[in-house]
Amino acid sequence: MSDLALTADPGRLTELIKSAAQHLGFTLVGFCPAIQPAGVTRLSEWLARGYAGEMDYLASRSAAYEHPRHVLDGVRSIVMLSLPYSAAPAQLPASGQGRISRYAWTGADYHDVIHDKLKRLVTLFLDSAPTARARGVVDTAPLLEREFAQLAGLGWVGKNTLLINKPAGSYFFLAALLTDAALVYDEPFSADHCGACRACLDACPTQAFVQPYVLDASRCISYLTIEHKSPIPHELRPGIGEWLFGCDVCQDVCPWNHKAADAERSKSTPPPMNLLDLIALFELGDDAFRQRFRHTPLWRPKRRGILRNAAIVLGNQRAAAAIPALTHALSDVEPLIRGASAWALGQIGGQEALAALTTRRNSEFEASVIEEIVLAIQIAQAACSQSSPR
Ligand code: SF4
Repeated sequence: MSDLALTADPGRLTELIKSAAQHLGFTLVGFCPAIQPAGVTRLSEWLARGYAGEMDYLASRSAAYEHPRHVLDGVRSIVMLSLPYSAAPAQLPASGQGRISRYAWTGADYHDVIHDKLKRLVTLFLDSAPTARARGVVDTAPLLEREFAQLAGLGWVGKNTLLINKPAGSYFFLAALLTDAALVYDEPFSADHCGACRACLDACPTQAFVQPYVLDASRCISYLTIEHKSPIPHELRPGIGEWLFGCDVCQDVCPWNHKAADAERSKSTPPPMNLLDLIALFELGDDAFRQRFRHTPLWRPKRRGILRNAAIVLGNQRAAAAIPALTHALSDVEPLIRGASAWALGQIGGQEALAALTTRRNSEFEASVIEEIVLAIQIAQAACSQSSPR
């Protein structure tokens, strides 16, 4: 740890960081000591119960969450920051359209946006404390961000497991600046304003909350449509509804977000970019997909994940207009896309979908996709026999 970082006036440094952060657009700024977070034990239990799904990277670096020194050696203080995203009312999708989670509405990769701001904040800070050390992180470092945000007085962790701030709700990203400098700390936020409310728990379409404050991520639509690499379990597909990428349900129903949404509604802003035309997505090959989405959050699940999700949404919508696109996707190079498209055709049903499935059944070679096709044929045949005149 640097001498100057230890001796620089903590009050002056704290004020400097606060005003620079606000100037950069961080709306909430709080300060806390870099201590061992109590939530590490909960994290271990959560991982042991398998709630992380396929996010193996969480378990593989779980020891690093034990102390923020694993993010910055010699760290003494953490500055917790929030950057808001749109609280505007979402447009509802028509058949053939899929919904995008509000944090991705701008199309910008928030890691890039926030890293750029954090870099500028670190530079400004180091101008005043040149021998201090500082590191800005967002999302990717092993840091229990919500717990440190609560310690820094920014709000409480709600039953939906997100950080909630009374005036701001929860429509914001969290970021952190770690430093070996001493700072003046805020009072931890000790109240829980969820009270008797359980709107988020009841509204979750896939029943992902096993109890208040505990999310089984392996059932969460955000996880399933973004992080999950394999076929989405059959029993969860109907719950995906019209979500192509992420989900906002547990935030949209939260009363603490209604004030932010009302404020946004009163502005004459253009409608949000929260919908995508799903059939058009099937026309994008690898290169075209990369060109369109490489620098957006939708790049994370890649083309295979997005088209898997698109097929599931089209199946949930029983979108007959999508039959040609889904039929074409039965020959896609990715088994994940072929399997999801088969499922969607089975849900849509009808003679055209059934013919496409039967034809593909004769040439499909991947066992998992054959299973999907056989099941889809059964579902489509059952629907046909129920609707045929006696
Ligand atoms: Fe808490 Fe209700 Fe918001 Fe859920 S919806 S986080 S229970 S206030």
